[in-house]
Amino acid sequence: MQKSVAIVGAGVSGLTCGVIFAERGFRATIFAEQVGSQTTSGAAGALWFPYDAEPVGKVIPWALATYKVLVDLTKYPRSGVSMIELRQYCRSGKIEIPDWCNSLVDVVTALHAVPNFSDGFSIRVPLTDTTIYLDYLKSRFQKAGGEIKSNVHFEKLEDVDPKWGLVINCAGIGARQLTHDSDLEPHRGQVAIVPKIDDLQCAIVCDDDPLMYAIPRANDCVFGGTNDVSDNLAPDPKTTKTIVSECSRVLEIESPRVLRERVGLRPFRKSGVRLEKEKLRGGRAVIHNYGHGGSGFTLSWGCAAEVAQLAIN
Ligand SMILES: Cc1cc2nc3c(=O)[nH]c(=O)nc-3n(C[C@H](O)[C@H](O)[C@H](O)COP(=O)(O)OP(=O)(O)OC[C@H]3O[C@@H](n4cnc5c(N)ncnc54)[C@H](O)[C@@H]3O)c2cc1C
Repeated sequence: MQKSVAIVGAGVSGLTCGVIFAERGFRATIFAEQVGSQTTSGAAGALWFPYDAEPVGKVIPWALATYKVLVDLTKYPRSGVSMIELRQYCRSGKIEIPDWCNSLVDVVTALHAVPNFSDGFSIRVPLTDTTIYLDYLKSRFQKAGGEIKSNVHFEKLEDVDPKWGLVINCAGIGARQLTHDSDLEPHRGQVAIVPKIDDLQCAIVCDDDPLMYAIPRANDCVFGGTNDVSDNLAPDPKTTKTIVSECSRVLEIESPRVLRERVGLRPFRKSGVRLEKEKLRGGRAVIHNYGHGGSGFTLSWGCAAEVAQLAIN
């Protein structure tokens, strides 16, 4: 008999797990309040880069596994994944080039004495254009036989119909309520979407305060950002102004007009990403896959592969 799986959540984690299960022959259904671009995943800049997620010992192997899959996906322009030069800077002192850079296929270049920053390095990484990629995952899932039920809210995981033999919990920050997990902390991020900037061919990122990034996509550009502990999903116009002004200053351009503002809650988990199997009340198995913080895209395929492994063990 075909095995059945219910996935809670249709952000990048739920959709990626959905693709893996559906393509491996499971009868897979995703249940979610919001789907794709409406979720936190839809607000992300979505560069491949390990950031604001724990523990490093697990995050890096998951990130490197994801890197390989995303590099492969760049062969299919329909996926919305492309390689981009990422210039990572700091505002004072020297930047430390992470050891994991040695595992990437492209060379790492040091960037010294650049205007506005004290030090930096450059790497080539996958960029998932969320305006294309989330729809790509959704249609790949559906093509493999998966079904999506939207506008579904669960109070608890036991509320998923018992006809589903296995439940995968990819609820992002929603797992706080679903699993009563007080370890989850909303790391609020606000971005401004501006029109494409002609001369900007690479992503510019500085994690020092004030967090700043400019990420060119196929049809627009993402200016960020913020990272504060808050549940507030309303965009703050003053913050948008500060973001646009800092990005424009660094890029040495006039402030562009703002097309859209987006806010998302990075699901940061203090004790680390939760990827484990346990039993729900009633004996059914659940596999938790949440708490990816600022790295949900970066960890997506590595984590989904591990979820699938746990499902068959
Ligand atoms: C501004 C910003 C920039 C970012 N940049 C990057 C980046 O460059 N690279 C990167 O890798 N990551 C980045 N991130 C982080 C990344 O967006 C998140 O880690 C990722 O979106 C988490 O995905 P998820 O699928 O686990 O959760 P989500 O995208 O939040 O999806 C959760 C899903 O669960 C559903 N759900 C929740 N609770 C319930 C419930 N009770 N019942 C039914 N459904 C429920 C929701 O409706 C939704 O479908 C960024 C985040 C932000 C906010």
